[in-house]
Amino acid sequence: MNKQVVKVLLPLRLDEPFDYVAPEVLQPGSVVQVPLGNRKSFGVVWPDSTPCNLPIDRIKPVLAHYDCPAIPQVSLDFVDWASEYTLAPKGLFLRMMIPMEDGLHSNKAIPLYDLYELKGRITPQRQQVVDYLTEHPCRSVEDIEEATSVSRAVINGMIKAELLTIKDFREEACPFQMPDVNQSGPTLNDSQQVAADRLIQRVKDHQFSATLLDGVTGSGKTEVYYEAILEALKQGKQSLVMLPEIALSTQWLQRFEERFGVKPAIWHSELTSAQRRITWRAIVEGKAPVVVGARSALFLPYPKLGLIIVDEEHDGSYKQEEQVIYNARDMAVVRAQIGNLPCVLASATPSLETMINVQTAKYDVLHLESRFGGATMPDVHVVDLRTAKSKKEVSSQKWLAEDLRQALAETVERGEQAMLFLNRRGYAPLTLCSDCGERLKCVNCDSWLVHHQNSTKLQCHHCGYFSSLPNQCPGCEEKDTWVACGPGVERIAEEAQSFLPKARLGILTSDTMNTPKKMAEIIGQIQDHQLDVLVGTQIMAKGYHFPKLTFVGVVDADISLSNGDLRAAEKTYQLLHQVAGRSGRGELPGHVWLQTYSPENPVMQAICKGQRDQFLAIESEERKSHGFPPFGRLISIIISGKHRYDVENAAKALARVFPHNESVQLMGPSPAAIAFLRGHTRWRLLVKSNRRYPLQKFVKSWLSQVELKSNLRLKIDVDPYNFM
Ligand code: ADP
Ligand code: ZN
Repeated sequence: MNKQVVKVLLPLRLDEPFDYVAPEVLQPGSVVQVPLGNRKSFGVVWPDSTPCNLPIDRIKPVLAHYDCPAIPQVSLDFVDWASEYTLAPKGLFLRMMIPMEDGLHSNKAIPLYDLYELKGRITPQRQQVVDYLTEHPCRSVEDIEEATSVSRAVINGMIKAELLTIKDFREEACPFQMPDVNQSGPTLNDSQQVAADRLIQRVKDHQFSATLLDGVTGSGKTEVYYEAILEALKQGKQSLVMLPEIALSTQWLQRFEERFGVKPAIWHSELTSAQRRITWRAIVEGKAPVVVGARSALFLPYPKLGLIIVDEEHDGSYKQEEQVIYNARDMAVVRAQIGNLPCVLASATPSLETMINVQTAKYDVLHLESRFGGATMPDVHVVDLRTAKSKKEVSSQKWLAEDLRQALAETVERGEQAMLFLNRRGYAPLTLCSDCGERLKCVNCDSWLVHHQNSTKLQCHHCGYFSSLPNQCPGCEEKDTWVACGPGVERIAEEAQSFLPKARLGILTSDTMNTPKKMAEIIGQIQDHQLDVLVGTQIMAKGYHFPKLTFVGVVDADISLSNGDLRAAEKTYQLLHQVAGRSGRGELPGHVWLQTYSPENPVMQAICKGQRDQFLAIESEERKSHGFPPFGRLISIIISGKHRYDVENAAKALARVFPHNESVQLMGPSPAAIAFLRGHTRWRLLVKSNRRYPLQKFVKSWLSQVELKSNLRLKIDVDPYNFM
């Protein structure tokens, strides 16, 4: 037998593959099972030519070769690249590529059940199963569950009690079908057609390209990129569409199904383990023609990928902040480059990064000028909260100015829908004692507890800690002295209800829409006009299309302008634009009301006058003058731990050994903006260089000089997006 040493990468926090011996030659990408300590793990044979120093008889053997297609070479290259760029271990990328072991086995045989013996007590629930199987013999547990209203536990109980028995098996079928590529979509208008033609050509080119699809909300970007998907389908290629918060994108999925007649494969963190296994297997076998996913879908092993679309490319949720820290929007472009395929970035408010790539001709651009079907952009009205009139109207108990109230009331009277936007969950962001000023703070974090009315609980929005409102103030021991300060959405809803007693109000936040099902329910209620006024956070800002929604009131347009984030202005602009874009999407014209203390701020000016590109030009100059991204590069380092002094000492030790280098600048060390989080102290160091400097290499060599105590955590964030 000709034994071979192979390198196998394991799905662990490891950068290098391990050596194993295999009885035969194994191609890179083969998925194998290997021993790891006293357990077994799957791993992927990795292309790596570093010689092995151990004698062959001391190397552990490969135990088995999974019955699974090999991971394509492009996917292996992508992991190597992404790991080098983000400084995160390769093994963690592998874990995103193969997030479960059970998908590696070939398709399962699914047992089909039939009635066996009717004995014992037949509850009404069990009777439902009996009735169903009498009419439809030989069904799987899933079939029974779907057709009756009975839970899986009841069915399993019946199997255990031998009321049901296995009669036969069925091969698990791939649930994803090929759409009919000959069915035609809507007739595109001229600028849509030009854009669609160009994207179709890109798909036919089989080459890398990056294209920004730039068009206002409602201009038909989705219809246009559907045409590119159609072309990829014709070419027998897979398409990946990335959406922010896919678990909540019910409207998008409905539309896809209407257009293509089949459901796409969906990938996000809330899939059940069975859905995950089946979807993964279909993807790696090339049987999922269109995959719609959150950022994690990017690392799946597509054998025939022919197109990537990143919708709402500017969206902050493409940045993953935990475990492996990466920006899926940027990585999508890299994946397209490695795989020689087109990538399309779609947005009405492209990120400055992307705009600069367009200006320097790295990316192509396609414009959709206006809203489809003559729908117009909304009028913007500004409420200057500094004027005497506003000061009288907006006080410590009221947050909606008179003009806004009136316009809102008129909207509801006309039978149209309205939205009030405030990016703050709960009733009030701060609760304090009116006697001594004591504020209720989280025990684990540097943050105030937020009062949620529905739960009568105070909650920390960072760590989830909650407590009930204490009877007496822990500071002065007085009773009944708590006052709520400032508004959250619940309080705004209360205010709106006070002058619109008959209006049907809905509060739309991640608290009320925390599952895809609840989300779909509420979206349905809005579509059916069972709600008149929506009071929502940014969860409502994205993507939705409600033709009857004609009024948007932004309660506090300044909220995110001053949070010490270098992208604060850009993010505020994007958010306000997206929120404003919810109104007037049908035949009725839309109105937007912005309440602000800084009407002269370039962000407000740009929103009012619809001058996006002027705003981006100002913002771009601002960043350039500071050498901030996209004109410079940043890597952020956060050290955290339970012991304050250990954290501080480690941060200072790192700063002491910072190599002198003219191209690189160190900012910090200093306590992070949230200096105490989930019981951990946090210190930050920020490293800055010019665009072209190989900053990762520099940081890697610098960090290797200090050995951190094992009770400390080091987080490296390349291209940071969050500065908290
Ligand atoms: P965007 O993605 O740019 O926000 P959408 O693709 O969602 O825009 O289009 C907005 C609305 O207009 C959708 O309801 C869409 O179905 C409709 N629409 C866009 N283009 C066309 C077209 N050519 N024919 C018919 N309806 C269209
Ligand atoms: Zn907390």
